[in-house]
Amino acid sequence: MMKGECRGELLLTKRDRKVIFCKKCGYAHISPMYSEEELEKFYEYVYRRSTPSNLWREKVRSIKKWKSCGSILDIGCWEGAQLEYFKKEGWKCTGTELNKKAAAIATSKGISIYQISIKEFFQKFSKKRWDVVNVAYILEHIPDALGFLQRLKSNIAKNGIVMVEVPNEFNPFQLAYIKEHNLTPYWIALPDHVNYFDKEGIRNLVKKAGYTILRGESSFPMEMFLLMGDDYLKRKSLGRASFKKVVNMERILRCYEPDLLSKFYSILYQCGIGRSTVLYLQPR
Ligand SMILES: [Zn+2]
Repeated sequence: MMKGECRGELLLTKRDRKVIFCKKCGYAHISPMYSEEELEKFYEYVYRRSTPSNLWREKVRSIKKWKSCGSILDIGCWEGAQLEYFKKEGWKCTGTELNKKAAAIATSKGISIYQISIKEFFQKFSKKRWDVVNVAYILEHIPDALGFLQRLKSNIAKNGIVMVEVPNEFNPFQLAYIKEHNLTPYWIALPDHVNYFDKEGIRNLVKKAGYTILRGESSFPMEMFLLMGDDYLKRKSLGRASFKKVVNMERILRCYEPDLLSKFYSILYQCGIGRSTVLYLQPR
């Protein structure tokens, strides 16, 4: 991709980078972009404990709308938490993960893991196809998100599904919160996050890459706690408490009103709110 043509409204400046809403790409990203080599070095060794996701369970459930079982590839699977849920349901699981420590943890769970970069993945598996490919928390990290999604199409089996999940940034709840408190966007994370997708941004990207959106879902809008005054940005313990509340609510609804919960998250997506966005896609 010719990053040279990228330009658009300047959203803010952080460290030595600008964050622009790029007219060409259709979403916000840093400028100038980091090189793949700079980022690969960073990801191979920098280890962080994984943040639990409310959507691990939800995705195993949602995918049944299109696939009852089969093979799944998780690109950048971190410690293999998502694959564990699929494995329990009888799916044939494969993961790739560049980070050494996270890949070792995933392997210890009895999942087939390749400790390779995305570039190495495309070289090694140019002819292999999977029924489902999970691309969770990847697109915000990679310089050429469009090229990645285009190339990935040759790894999707006939009628296969790609599940894309990205943090929902510059979302209306975040924007209201920072305006109220006169803050700059607190979600800008360098060098980790080079791209920032709100609902329209991620839709623009996947459509340009040649995918049809079958369904969209959000995870719970955690920023609602900020708006209610539980400022977990200032106090970490509030963050853990907020997360527990959401887990409780989901556990109860999953038990008694699972379809309503699913519908609720699909409506949040339509409103552009939610901590992350999940799209179920099919190559066009
Ligand atoms: Zn751009």
